[in-house]
Order: sequence, then structure tokens, then C-alpha cells
Amino acid sequence: MNLTDPTLFRQQAFINGIWLDANSRKTIDVTDPASGECLGQIPDMDETDTLMAVDAARLALTNWKAIPAQQRATLLRKWFDLIIEHRQDLAMIMTREQGKPLAEAEGEIRYAASFIEWFAEQCKRTNGEIIPSPTADKRLMVIKQPIGVCAAITPWNFPAAMITRKAGPALAAGCTMVLKPASETPYSALALAELANRAGIPAGVFNVVTGHPAAIGGVLTAHPEVRKLTFTGSTEVGRLLMRQSAETIKKVSLELGGNAPFIVFNDADIPAAVEGAIAAKFRNAGQTCVCANRFYIQRDIYDSFAEQFTLRVSQLKVGSGLGKDIQVGPLINDKAVRKVQELIDDALSHGAQVLAGNSPHPLGGNFVTPTVLGHVSAGAKLLEQEIFGPVAPLVVFDDEAQAIQLANNTIYGLAAYFYSKDPARIWRVSEALEYGMVGINTGLISNEVAPFGGVKQSGLGREGSEYGIDDYLELKYLCQGGL
Ligand code: NAD
Repeated sequence: MNLTDPTLFRQQAFINGIWLDANSRKTIDVTDPASGECLGQIPDMDETDTLMAVDAARLALTNWKAIPAQQRATLLRKWFDLIIEHRQDLAMIMTREQGKPLAEAEGEIRYAASFIEWFAEQCKRTNGEIIPSPTADKRLMVIKQPIGVCAAITPWNFPAAMITRKAGPALAAGCTMVLKPASETPYSALALAELANRAGIPAGVFNVVTGHPAAIGGVLTAHPEVRKLTFTGSTEVGRLLMRQSAETIKKVSLELGGNAPFIVFNDADIPAAVEGAIAAKFRNAGQTCVCANRFYIQRDIYDSFAEQFTLRVSQLKVGSGLGKDIQVGPLINDKAVRKVQELIDDALSHGAQVLAGNSPHPLGGNFVTPTVLGHVSAGAKLLEQEIFGPVAPLVVFDDEAQAIQLANNTIYGLAAYFYSKDPARIWRVSEALEYGMVGINTGLISNEVAPFGGVKQSGLGREGSEYGIDDYLELKYLCQGGL
């Protein structure tokens, strides 16, 4: 890999401050989704290695939680500075293993770093509370303490940000962590570990275990010393890990799948809605949990929106993330490409019209032509499940009540978007949408200062913002008597 600092490309796991192979010596290949080239190997670790990592995190906890917040903040700030300093190499690693365009990868590195900076500040503000006592002889207090060893399991679609959104608050709170990144995109995680090490974060505080998901996840969920599991990924795997964590009553945070509606009302600024739709749908080639998955367009503006949107989609430049001005990279693997094509075919069998795309992409491989389907009817699978690809289904609606009913008709509740210029409607619709996050006249909502998370089967807990650190803290009530 062509890096300014080649030592950021690590092919071993990181446990207790040491770079290690799997105990079994087994490895997994990591592939560039754009070219199919094998980028290298990572250790295929299992239960034995994971137990070692949990032990390292347990031993490191005592000292780490005793360090004053101010000092933890200084170390995290150094980690942030190093991530920013090496952002171009980190972006290159990400583009090679994940496929997203280089500019987008660098944007993700900045976004990832922002969580470290934000929580380095927030850890100085985990204030306790004095509660007025109901009796004269007692004083009541609440203090906040780190929950302990945390396990994190993360997906491939945001190989850096999904890690720092967890490691930032966990380490800031005084917890230690064992991370299992996705096997498709481990090199971003390992480069972050290398920089954490350079920043002076002590051995055992941040450990990265790569390899067999079920074996590693089995130990992380069953181990009594792991007090918290934080997971980002599919609802299906989240449900399984929550069930596995029940035995040891772990605190669980889940950032799961979405099925975001994108509603355009007839009073909307249509060109702005088109731009918002492009951003919300085609970023990361449509492989985003908050991606607009279903477009509901009011009948009297449907033709106008469809025409302008289709034109913009057909101009999107597809190619390797390393190419100049590329806007849409490859999908993560051939399985994802097949799934997207099946969803398109299913919608067509339900009477949808092809407005753009649905043709094999000339580049072949994992590249998919950005596609717009018109008049998609109820029952089409792509309105019910995450598409995770560059396909936009358009559906007509007649009035506000119908739009809200259609938008809420899903098991998911992560992000929703709508465009309207009517202030009263903006309040009504914002309050009626059963989602954790609502974009109003914008297609981009994520940042480190706002609470990110879903309702219904999209998850539990919030990441980022002033609330994000709470998931890594326990409240302790102190009652002093005898006054
Ligand atoms: P996934 O659920 O298949 O995998 C996520 C992680 O879980 C990976 O590290 C994987 O190796 C691991 N895993 C899989 N099976 C496991 C098992 N049995 N035990 C332990 N770990 C296991 O998801 P993915 O395909 O990597 O990512 C895409 C999904 O993530 C989408 O559903 C997307 O919506 C969701 N996502 C959600 C958010 C959010 O913030 N809500 C953000 C990004 C992605």
C-alpha cells in the first residue's frame, strides 16, 4: 500500500500493547473491493486469543480508571492530533479495504477523530450530584464511575468512525476496551490502535482482536468481566448478541439497521430536495445505516422531482475510490451486488419502472450502476429491507397523513428525512415520525455533538453528544448518615 508512513499498515492484532498473530497461526485474507486484489492477511483469532485480550483489558482497568480525567483527556487529545496528522494515510487504507472514494474516506477520518476530541473534553464534565436529603441526619450524593471492561463489535461500512464513536467515550469515561472490527475492514482499526499506542495510551486499555466473529463474540458476550457490549451492525446480529449477553446481564448498546424514509412534500424546494436526496442516498455507494432507503414524493410534484433526480443520478461518476472525482465506489463484495440486483428484480416484478440504471456496470466486479426506480408499489422487498446499494425507489403519496403512515410502517426507526417549507408541517411531521433522528430540509445529519441512535428495532442507546459518555458510566448513590 502506498503510504507516507508504512508502519500504519499493521497485519497483526493488538493485545496488551503487543502486536500478535493468532494463537492458532491461522489468517484471513483482506481484499480490495474495487480491484479484487488481496491486500494482506490478518490473524484469524478465536476464543483463546479473545480471553487473553479480555484479561489484558481487565488488568489495565485498575490504573486507567484511577488516572484523573484531565490526564486521560490529554492522552485522548494526542490520539486525536495523530489521527488528523495521518489522515491521508488513514484515508488511503480505508479506501483500499472498503472502497469509498478517497475524499469521502478523508471526511470519515475527520468525523472519526471528532469523537475522540469531543469525548476528551466531555470526560472532564462527568459531574456527580448532591440530592437534598429528606431527613436532617443524612447527606445524599451521586457519583459517576466507569462501567469497566467494554467489548465493541463494529461493521465494515464506516471502518474508523464506528470505532472512535465507541472507543472515544469508553476510554474517556475510564473504561478499557476489546474491539473486534469487521473482517472486511480491519486495517483502519489496526492503524487507529497504532496511533493510540503512539499517543501513549497504556497497554491493555485499547485492544483489537481480529478473526472469527462467532468465536470472538461468544467470549465477549459470555465473559463476566466484560460489563458492557457496544455493537454496530445488522439488527439480526444485534439481536443474537443481546440474547448472548443476557446470561451475564451486560449493559448493551446497539446501533443497528435502518430503513430511512425520505419524504418530499409539495411545498418543498425541489432542487434542494434533489441535492439532499443525492447526499442521503449515494454517499458510501448507498451502504450507510442512515441512507435514504425509500423516497415518498407528493403526487403533484412527483414528475418534476423524478425528472430532476434521475438526471442528477445518471451523472454520478462511478469507479475505484482512488480515481479522480469519483462519487460512487464499489460495493463491499459480490454477495452485496447480488442482493441489490435481487431487490431491483423483485421491485420490477411488482411493476416498478426503471428511470435510471439497472444495467450491469461497464467496470464489472463489485460496481453497480446508480439506479432510480419509479412508481415502486407496496410489497416490493426494497421498501421493507435495507438496500445497502446505490438504488433509489420512488413512491407516490397523496397527503401528509399517508406519508407519515407509510414512513412509520417498518420495524426500523433510525433516521428519517423530509423536505417542506411550511413551519407548522415541519413540527407536525417531526413529532409524528417514529425515528431516533430526523433530517429536515437536509440529507446529512451526522456529527459528534448530536445524539446518534435509533428507536424500535434500530437499536438501544445513543452515541456522540453529551449523552454518549453515559453508556460507559454507572451511577453510584452514596448515603451518609449520622450527621
Ligand atoms: P453485521 O451485523 O453482519 O456485522 C457487524 C459486525 O458483527 C462485524 O464485525 C461482524 O464480523 C460481526 N459479527 C457477525 N456475526 C457475528 C456473531 N455471530 N458474533 C459476533 N460478531 C458477529 O453488519 P455489517 O454487514 O458489517 O454492517 C452493515 C450493517 O450495519 C447494516 O445493517 C447497517 O445498517 C448497520 N450499521 C448501523 C449503524 C448505526 O449506527 N445504527 C452504523 C453503521 C452500520
